[in-house]
Amino acid sequence: MRYVSTRGGTALRRFTDILLEGLAEDGGLFLPESYPQVGSAELAAWRQLPYADLAAEILARFTDDLLRAEVASICRAIYTASVYGNGRADSDFAQIAPLRWLEPGLALLELSNGPTLAFKDTAMQLLGALFERVLAERGATLNILGATAGDTGSAAEYALRGRAGLRVFMLSPHGRMSAFQRAQMFSLQDANIHNLAVRGVFDDCQDMVKAVNGDAAFKARYRIGAVNSINWGRIVAQVVYYFKGWLAATAAGAGRVSVCVPSGNFGNILAGWIAKQMGLPIHRLLLATNENNVLDEFFRSARYRPRAAAETYATSSPSMDISKASNFERFVYDLVGRDGAALRALWDELSTQGSFDLNGTPYLSALRASGFASATSTHADRLRTIRAEYERGGLIVDPHTADGLKVARELRQPGETVICLETALPAKFAETIVEATGRAPERPAGYADLESRPQRFEVIDTDVEALKDYIAARA
Ligand SMILES: *Cc1c(COP(=O)(O)O)cnc(C)c1O
Repeated sequence: MRYVSTRGGTALRRFTDILLEGLAEDGGLFLPESYPQVGSAELAAWRQLPYADLAAEILARFTDDLLRAEVASICRAIYTASVYGNGRADSDFAQIAPLRWLEPGLALLELSNGPTLAFKDTAMQLLGALFERVLAERGATLNILGATAGDTGSAAEYALRGRAGLRVFMLSPHGRMSAFQRAQMFSLQDANIHNLAVRGVFDDCQDMVKAVNGDAAFKARYRIGAVNSINWGRIVAQVVYYFKGWLAATAAGAGRVSVCVPSGNFGNILAGWIAKQMGLPIHRLLLATNENNVLDEFFRSARYRPRAAAETYATSSPSMDISKASNFERFVYDLVGRDGAALRALWDELSTQGSFDLNGTPYLSALRASGFASATSTHADRLRTIRAEYERGGLIVDPHTADGLKVARELRQPGETVICLETALPAKFAETIVEATGRAPERPAGYADLESRPQRFEVIDTDVEALKDYIAARA
């Protein structure tokens, strides 16, 4: 398996090379040269596999420069009930990603039972183990530079804390995360973790990371790596639960299965797109946005117009407050027939005109055939959905998952089963839950005193040179 850059300008690379990197040298994103294909015989054989073994089967198809037995043993060490059980030992949680039926034709895929209570743990815990393994073999060290709207940062830090050869520099938008998210990250006292609160929004943080990575000399000298959602290892780890969800839903008798995904950086739903390209019969991919609905606009109009930081709203589903989805380029690369020059032309248009339009281009039919549909969910929708779900069955969902459920119900067609991906537990977003239901969400055991633990972080300006100095002094 070789990897290419979406901008077409990079030599072919292997999984263990791109694992440790962010952007490709030409500014593009890495993708496999072609997607491995999975047929119905494999799907049938995978039905009985525990999650860890399913993960090993899928990962092995993308990681042929690692020993298969090694991939399997890393998966078995990571995908255990003790990492993903939230202290709960019942058999549902031992499934890692259990499917919970809300009603016939609508189910939640529970992905938030890892240490930071969001779906990002599923990929990040695996990445931590893979990084440590590859660095040890090379006798190398790595400085992880990342940007987070909340959940990526904590998932990365919990996956990398205390790991040999790794330091973490994590940028987050100052004052924009929930108290729980802040406490979760900033309370880590491990010496290899550095929290930087940036006076700006998430897109500013992401731009700073891109700027540092754009300085090739600095990047090489300080061995800068990434774990934010452009990291290929994360995408491929997320592919696994689309298979898991589809296998569980069809085992329960579902026919046409679609997946609805609360989206921000387009990382989670991109994994669904890849699962579909591999041959998993996903009927439709339903994309849910909050008020920051650039992607909903794109899938409805075929016009892509990302917005500036100043036009990005702070909402009650903050992990989706993104107006320039970094993984979107990977999907567009597939849409334009994997033609790096065509992709570059669209991105040039984007930088000169602020938008591009697929209407009247040969790519419109590929978009129409992609199986994507989308809708927007607002604060009022979120509250109504959380309240309705609570009144219906006593289940409290987090605000991001509520965006997904609102869109899943709105777009679901007769005869279609929709799996909505649960992206976080409500305990992370208590304020909105109280606003919707009048009661605070339960916290899993071990999180009761989180906000009262001492916090460690520094506030910085949106100043790339100052950020480089900070890293240079500590790397
Ligand atoms: C990261 C995140 C999202 C968005 O996922 P993307 O991969 O960025 O599209 C949605 N909800 C929650 C809770 C998240 O943490």
